[in-house]
Amino acid sequence: MRLILLGPPGAGKGTQAKVLSQKLNLVHLSTGDIFRESAKRPDEIGQRLTGYMQRGQLVPDEIVNQIVIEKLKDKRIQNRFILDGYPRTKTQATSLDEFLAINKIPLDMVVYMQTSEQVIIDRLTGRRICGKCGANYHIKNILPKKDGICDICGGRLIQRDDDKKETVLKRIKVYNQQTAGLIDYYKNKGFLHTVSGDLEVDRLYKILHELFNEEGLI
Ligand code: AMP
Repeated sequence: MRLILLGPPGAGKGTQAKVLSQKLNLVHLSTGDIFRESAKRPDEIGQRLTGYMQRGQLVPDEIVNQIVIEKLKDKRIQNRFILDGYPRTKTQATSLDEFLAINKIPLDMVVYMQTSEQVIIDRLTGRRICGKCGANYHIKNILPKKDGICDICGGRLIQRDDDKKETVLKRIKVYNQQTAGLIDYYKNKGFLHTVSGDLEVDRLYKILHELFNEEGLI
């Protein structure tokens, strides 16, 4: 199955992509995860990436396209991937389309996770992650056993810089300006299925599983 998860920051794309990739044996490609990892580099590239993310801005299309296309050249993942956080602009979408067409890799579905603004803000500003292993927590509904400490590896829980309220509002604005247009783009191509990103993780997973079943994808 070849899938794109589309939706605003905080829709739960990463969470669903993780569950789906494990249960359906798909490769989860998250451009956000790739950039967070690359931003740790102690050189100029690392600094530039950190800057874009801290300001809630998008990384330039040429950089993003190059990274994703390079990954998709791997034949082992060409028929079983979930793209999470990519494409995010029309230029990225057309670049992906071109690559898929040239390599005869047909996309199966684009799932749009429609999510209300209040849910996005609550989820992102309340999210905490483990600074060591990256595990996710939330100040209201995913509490660690010991305050501020990761259950899995004992690392300290921190707030992502881009989850601070001001940056979250900026990310929502950038999404509305640069990414939301992709909903119509994929709707017109007949790929789009809309689900609610406001739902609980397990409930939404069940809905997606049913949807893939109905469409004959699993
Ligand atoms: P995410 O975890 O998907 O919200 O991504 C975190 C940050 O990485 C974003 O706010 C952007 O700065 C950058 N980023 C991730 N994916 C893309 C993309 N497809 N295009 C441009 N920037 C991206």
